[in-house]
Amino acid sequence: MSNVTRNDVWELAKSRSNDLVKLASDLIRIPSENPVGTQRDVIDFVEKYLSDAGISYEEVSCNPDHPNVLAKMGSDEGFSVILNGHVDVVPAGDRSQWDYDPFGGEITDKRILGRGASDMKAGVAGLLFAMKVLKDSGADLKGNIRLHIVSDEESGSEYGTTWLCEQGYAEGANAAIIAEPTTNWTIESGQKGNLHIVFKSTGKSAHGSLGNYKGDNAILKLNKVLANIEMLTKIEGHYPKDLLQSLANSQMVAEKELDMKGIGNVINHVSANVGLISGGTRPNMVPDYCEATIDCRLPYGVDHEEIENTVKEMIKAAGVEGVEYELIWKSEANVTRDDSDIVQAIKKNAEAIWGITVYPAWQWACSDAREYRLKGVPTIQYGPSNTEGIHAPNENVDIEDVVNAGQIYVLSLCDLLGVK
Ligand SMILES: [Zn+2]
Repeated sequence: MSNVTRNDVWELAKSRSNDLVKLASDLIRIPSENPVGTQRDVIDFVEKYLSDAGISYEEVSCNPDHPNVLAKMGSDEGFSVILNGHVDVVPAGDRSQWDYDPFGGEITDKRILGRGASDMKAGVAGLLFAMKVLKDSGADLKGNIRLHIVSDEESGSEYGTTWLCEQGYAEGANAAIIAEPTTNWTIESGQKGNLHIVFKSTGKSAHGSLGNYKGDNAILKLNKVLANIEMLTKIEGHYPKDLLQSLANSQMVAEKELDMKGIGNVINHVSANVGLISGGTRPNMVPDYCEATIDCRLPYGVDHEEIENTVKEMIKAAGVEGVEYELIWKSEANVTRDDSDIVQAIKKNAEAIWGITVYPAWQWACSDAREYRLKGVPTIQYGPSNTEGIHAPNENVDIEDVVNAGQIYVLSLCDLLGVK
């Protein structure tokens, strides 16, 4: 039994802040654009870091272009925490729009600069750093840490977290932390579901010169159905009593982050975006076919039946014949309760380190977190970021955010794994 305390581990983490900043910068300096670039170099770097730290790892993949690195430390028994991060980044794009080299990893007095600084190489650095600090401290862990580093998040996760969860790598975990970028005062603890509705309208073609006399215009028919889209966006979520406070917090966070009054309604209402439409052959022909796809995000508790009934109502209210629909389900809304160990640990330590109130809140979009939640693992996202620059030129991250996130991970792991 070692007598290393939580405070000893924290002191060690604090004394190594510069190492953490350098690690984030080193990761940024390895280009890993997805799509197009290679993930090999950044994965090799992660493996070398683990091996130098004396942490055993293995590489697993279903696609050699997108390898995953798994590592484990601690005992087989006890609380089991997954740490997840992706090392792929969106392409840097037009270099002339950057004020600095996107793969320079430059460190200024306050910031680390480059593609992936916020999304999410600083977060990955924080996770790797936390494991190494715990390892070097010699603290006794009453449980284990399982690292999941993936290299396919930005193109849909098929070869990354989704595959890992399908293969059973999340089995037996009691919590998961994903170091995706968040503001320092929010912990992402839930997300909406996702569904595509494809409307297909069939008409009858005729010569365009007789368009308002002959034929049956499939585009105009579909247009009438799409005009009823508010029937979808009026649908509200259904919440048990114990989620009402989280709902209120999530709406408050959305209004602040999106800086728009009333936009908190996005959390508890269906959102619907007509994102694709195609129909017709030529301007001088009455179109006999038109198809449109709506991307819907579903609040908690809205099910298949409620959406399908509404879709039928939209067509009926349009008063048209020959419009069919197809529902393509992507995912259900999913949440991690505020009273779970993982939310409580991150909240407590983030509040202590930053000296502010930190709110668990649900996303208006979706993320990999659902894969773990669907496996029954309480999961949160919390990570260093400057939201401007994410998926855009001039991405960067504040050094203070990176250093604090590293300490929050270290202290939360101590709390979850019984280091007192
Ligand atoms: Zn990301």
